[in-house]
Amino acid sequence: MTMVPNKKLKSPYSKGLQNQSKPSNSKALSTCLDQIKLAIKNQSSLGGIWEDWTELAGKPLAANCRPLKVSGGILVIGASHPQWLQALKYNRTQLLGTLRAAGHKIKDIRIQQHHPDLITRKEDTQDQENIWSRHPSRIDVHGIANCDSCGSPAPAGEMALWGRCGFCRRKELNQSSKTS
Ligand SMILES: [Zn+2]
Repeated sequence: MTMVPNKKLKSPYSKGLQNQSKPSNSKALSTCLDQIKLAIKNQSSLGGIWEDWTELAGKPLAANCRPLKVSGGILVIGASHPQWLQALKYNRTQLLGTLRAAGHKIKDIRIQQHHPDLITRKEDTQDQENIWSRHPSRIDVHGIANCDSCGSPAPAGEMALWGRCGFCRRKELNQSSKTS
């Protein structure tokens, strides 16, 4: 690529200069440099990465890992679950290459476990609703049966899970914690 100081060839940074009242060449250059610096600064900030995160990381990773911060050129990424932490570690070098190719001034990537609570509260609530809908103590869902240990009627879900009713299970847990 040859550098031609021709007005017809516009660099991406000359766009903003078009609207300004023709500054002197040196002024134009310094303004241009400022704009480049600003662009670089934006590129190395979390905001720019966050905006293009799905593109940069790819859909599966982007959905389960989040850029948390950029500090001293090091991008910290949080993974929602251990398996995604592994996936992220596996894709670390590639992701770093993609970030750099996209113009982000990232020196390195650090990966950490990130509690999904803060970023996917909605999904988390749905999870809890699912857990409750499957909860062994719900007679309306699982029905009722007689406990094998004490013979008392108890939620069938408890028997399916523990082989005995919740009372017997607690009694047994208490006994085993006392003896151990
Ligand atoms: Zn029982």
